[in-house]
Amino acid sequence: MSDMYACDRCGKPTPNFVPWTCGSIAGKLGYSWCDDCEERFERELAWENEQSEKDAITCPWCGYSDPDSWEFEGEYDDGYECSHCGKPFFVEKRVDITYTSKRRIDDMPEGWVAE
Ligand SMILES: [Zn+2]
Ligand SMILES: [Zn+2]
Repeated sequence: MSDMYACDRCGKPTPNFVPWTCGSIAGKLGYSWCDDCEERFERELAWENEQSEKDAITCPWCGYSDPDSWEFEGEYDDGYECSHCGKPFFVEKRVDITYTSKRRIDDMPEGWVAE
């Protein structure tokens, strides 16, 4: 009889135990998910069919990429519908902010020569 653990998701007893490769986290050496939870998680992941970090809003149903994505104003909108197949899905907009800085030419010391 193998050791039994409690499923981290639903608390059901399970023999499943997967140790973390990086050692203990918060006093635990790994995680236990029962077969049911494992299966549900994989099913949910496959179901979501996440289209992450695309340049345009991409429909997770039909793959249509919306050329009007830039008009999307919401942060996280469960009312979004594909304009191609009409199915609803979530959209999360992530905007990368970068900064570009440079010296002002006006502050250039006289006689400065580029190397
Ligand atoms: Zn479970
Ligand atoms: Zn679609």
